[in-house]
Amino acid sequence: MLAHGPPFRLLPRIDSDNHFFWTSGADGRLRFLRCRSCESFVHPPAPRCPQCLAEYLTPEPVSGRAVLESFTVNHQQWVPGAEPYMVAWVSIVEQSDVRLTTNLIDVALEDVHIGMPVEVIFEHNDDVYLPLFRRVGGEK
Ligand SMILES: [Zn+2]
Repeated sequence: MLAHGPPFRLLPRIDSDNHFFWTSGADGRLRFLRCRSCESFVHPPAPRCPQCLAEYLTPEPVSGRAVLESFTVNHQQWVPGAEPYMVAWVSIVEQSDVRLTTNLIDVALEDVHIGMPVEVIFEHNDDVYLPLFRRVGGEK
């Protein structure tokens, strides 16, 4: 069972552009910037929409559902006694080119497959809510 994320975290550097993203989980919702002109979700946060170049982007909640695009298992013991953990690449169901590098948690390796539906679960560290993912219907 690969129940947990990495044994330690390097937390993201928060700035005015990404603050909304890393604190979004405070209310349990995942948010991305959305272009008010063409309605594309934009990630990572950028001052302009890469699709239509509009500058009017505002954070908007998404469902938190995603699809597992790829994953790898880290066996390197960065600290002594650390358990292996999964690094995952997921795309949100609202827009398949919006992808996150994250950890897949609460799932056994033999139950993991590319294309499986996953859902966000937040890990609270200091002021940051890290969006991690688990199998849809997984244990809390
Ligand atoms: Zn746009």
